[in-house]
Amino acid sequence: MICPKCKESHLRTVNSRNVKDTKRRRRECVSCGHRFTTIEVEEPVAGYYETLLQRVRELEHVFSSGKQGWAGAWQETEDKLLIKMYYENIPYKVIATNLNRTYKGIEMRIIKLRKAGKL
Ligand SMILES: [Zn+2]
Repeated sequence: MICPKCKESHLRTVNSRNVKDTKRRRRECVSCGHRFTTIEVEEPVAGYYETLLQRVRELEHVFSSGKQGWAGAWQETEDKLLIKMYYENIPYKVIATNLNRTYKGIEMRIIKLRKAGKL
């Protein structure tokens, strides 16, 4: 890792703490004194996005046959996975990666689900 300011690689960790299942480290560049924070996040949880893709494949033929309701079925699947990950305390960022959505998109969806009483 290098200092984002001076590009030197002599860094020390000032402090570190766990926030949900991420690890935040306050770092200081020994060369120029610049301080910055790094956040370690677990790799995307295997399986969620694959489950979603599998569901898409199942729904593809429904979509191509012109039947209604595939979009709703898709959303339902995505919501199920989102709710599961939410209750497993997986960070929003990781949920977003798994569902191939933006962080903001996940936040908005969670707000909607809460309002609908599903979360
Ligand atoms: Zn520096």
